[in-house]
Amino acid sequence: TPKLELRHVSQRYTGARGETLALDGMDLCVAPGESVAILGPSGCGKSTSLLAACGLQRPTGGSVFVDGEPVESPRLETALILQDFGLMPWKTVEQNAALGLQVRRLPKKERMKRAHDALRRVGLGDFFRSYPAELSGGMRQRLAMARALACDIDLLLMDEPLSALDALLREEMQNMLKRCWIDQGYAQVLVTHSIEEAVFLGQRVVVMSARPGRIVYELANGEMVDPS
Ligand code: ADP
Ligand code: ADP
Repeated sequence: TPKLELRHVSQRYTGARGETLALDGMDLCVAPGESVAILGPSGCGKSTSLLAACGLQRPTGGSVFVDGEPVESPRLETALILQDFGLMPWKTVEQNAALGLQVRRLPKKERMKRAHDALRRVGLGDFFRSYPAELSGGMRQRLAMARALACDIDLLLMDEPLSALDALLREEMQNMLKRCWIDQGYAQVLVTHSIEEAVFLGQRVVVMSARPGRIVYELANGEMVDPS
């Protein structure tokens, strides 16, 4: 059974300028533990496909399955990391790292232990009591990662997680993302503008286009495949 499957997913948005068909019959299958990178121009529906995959936005057409079950709402074992990381500035690093654990019925001591373990794993062991504003961009990225890792996720979705960082840092963070993926064994889907990043982090690279909003090419083992 695939970890994640998008089956003919479509998304129609109604905005001030009329209707947009952001996704038009997108198909995507991700095996357990697999890493897939999604490349494509702005506006081709990459973010929309992640919103559907994590259950935050029910698509207007088609279906989404995780472990073969229809996804109807966000699940605890899926994490979504966005470009701005979604940190809470008034909470400390350790509180931010523990955010995803609050909805699980774990004693506070256990939550803090897991948060601390995850923070150490991403190299933030010395910053438990700091606030996000005191961290550099790379450190905030690590914090967002720690928050996901603390939760025993089996699916990690990332929407351009490195695009706010400068080039040098991006390379370092790419290595960290790869190490975490290898160590933890979750499946991941990474949306990026960078071909280099896609090839480095994705076992498979899929390319989307805006018209129609779906996958048009797939690169696996260095071979270009036409998915249709
Ligand atoms: P990408 O992540 O590839 O840049 P998006 O999924 O963000 O693409 O957007 C795909 C298309 O849908 C774009 O044309 C965008 O303007 C439109 N869109 C996205 N979200 C909304 C929304 N909430 N309301 C109206 N239009 C939207
Ligand atoms: P990075 O984003 O990779 O941490 P920086 O150049 O911003 O890169 O920081 C380099 C190192 O300096 C960090 O790994 C951390 O050890 C330290 N550092 C950065 N910001 C702070 C801070 N606000 N307080 C203490 N140490 C910091």
